[in-house]
Amino acid sequence: MTKPLVALVGRPNVGKSTLFNRIVGKRISIVDDMAGVTRDRLYADAEWCGRQFTLIDTGGIELKSEDVMWKHIRRQAELAVEVADVIVFVTDGRQGLIAEDYDVAAYLRTSLKPIVVAVNKIDNVNVGEIYDFYQLGLGEPIAVSAEQSLGIGDLLDAITQNMEVVDAQEEEGLKIAVIGKPNAGKSSIANRILGYDRNIVSDIAGTTRDAIDTPFDYKGKRYVLIDTAGVRRKRSVDEAVEQYSVMRSLLAVRRADIVLAVIDATEMLTEQDVRLIGYAHEQGKPSVIVMNKWDLIEKDTHTVNEFKKRMDSELKFMDYYIPAFVSALTGKRIDKLLDTALTAYENASRRVSTGLLNEVIIDALAMNEPPSRKGGKRLKVYYATQPAVNPPTFVLFVNDPENMHFSYKRYIENCLRKAFDFTGTPIRIVLRAKDARGE
Ligand code: GDP
Ligand code: GDP
Repeated sequence: MTKPLVALVGRPNVGKSTLFNRIVGKRISIVDDMAGVTRDRLYADAEWCGRQFTLIDTGGIELKSEDVMWKHIRRQAELAVEVADVIVFVTDGRQGLIAEDYDVAAYLRTSLKPIVVAVNKIDNVNVGEIYDFYQLGLGEPIAVSAEQSLGIGDLLDAITQNMEVVDAQEEEGLKIAVIGKPNAGKSSIANRILGYDRNIVSDIAGTTRDAIDTPFDYKGKRYVLIDTAGVRRKRSVDEAVEQYSVMRSLLAVRRADIVLAVIDATEMLTEQDVRLIGYAHEQGKPSVIVMNKWDLIEKDTHTVNEFKKRMDSELKFMDYYIPAFVSALTGKRIDKLLDTALTAYENASRRVSTGLLNEVIIDALAMNEPPSRKGGKRLKVYYATQPAVNPPTFVLFVNDPENMHFSYKRYIENCLRKAFDFTGTPIRIVLRAKDARGE
């Protein structure tokens, strides 16, 4: 299913591009009047209350320049009626209605498409001035201020009121985030995975962007790559780059189903890397630790093991980690990367039957009896269930959660990991108090 298309139509300067950015939530079409940069993006995906759509700013479409203004708008409107599922007619609440607005409205009324009238530049609560806009005959006008971000929620309600709520996962596929420090090679990895250099498109000086989501197909399935490589900022703000990149990485991790943590192997794991990876772990996301620039490492037969040893000690908190030693430059082992990531996700989605789970827990308790705590009270585990996946979450019903020492919890986790393949994914163990009668 493709997402519904929502088109912004209106005269120049009514604020379409400002509104576009507001709705999309990022500065994608750029208002700065930098030659060649303005409106470099006409389309962007947006979401409101689980309803996803694609927004298009028809004002950014270069129609024939000899067109006089109103004809120009008329062509935008025709185009919008042709392709869009919902049309947002953007007007200027400061300037009020002009003759062309009535013409465009008359044309839009003849289409059967849902139309929403946005009266922009209503920067304060005095909405008295929007009543004129009922005269357009397109229903209730909605007062907004794109600049002050007022009324945007009401506008989005109107735009999406007849759209279906779609499950993002079904719609777009799994989200794979590429995170890491600046220069670790995130862009290079992303380009290898996608098979083309997507950055050529976005390397315009001065453009700011957050993560870029790029859909792609792999083995007949749809995925989305979240690339946080982001801005190539001017030299003067270089020191801020690291900061931004951390923030972007954190945001990307939250949205992601799988994390590729890219490390510059020539620097080994830095504190920063460990912090980012730790964040993915805490968020319960499956991950692959991608040791990039492997081509630059002088290797002998021990090198991989030496790296693994150092990683083991840096990543003690996640001994389930999966390493990949790759080179984005030569392409070495990059082809395996996606399969590895998908395996980690599969493990994160693993559901264990209650019977099997309880067998493993009973065995674990028998092999290594819980130590007694608190003056002789001993931990009793009555039974276990797995209520959730992504990450796999196990609930142990016990006599008293206080009796579980963290080292014993760790032991139980290890037993679960030995019995079931949870490589690459964190798992969670939750304790619930329950008395012997099961209440
Ligand atoms: P477009 O040509 O329709 O895409 O319009 P722009 O988004 O480029 O905006 C035209 C001008 O209107 C710019 O100077 C914006 O800063 C200004 N503008 C946009 N939205 C608002 C608003 O809500 N209030 C006010 N006062 N100005 C706005
Ligand atoms: P990002 O900032 O994390 O997106 O990093 P880039 O992908 O832009 O890469 C930073 C620099 O490292 C660039 O000069 C790349 O050419 C280089 N680079 C990336 N991957 C590799 C690799 O596997 N081997 C080598 N030798 N250089 C690489």
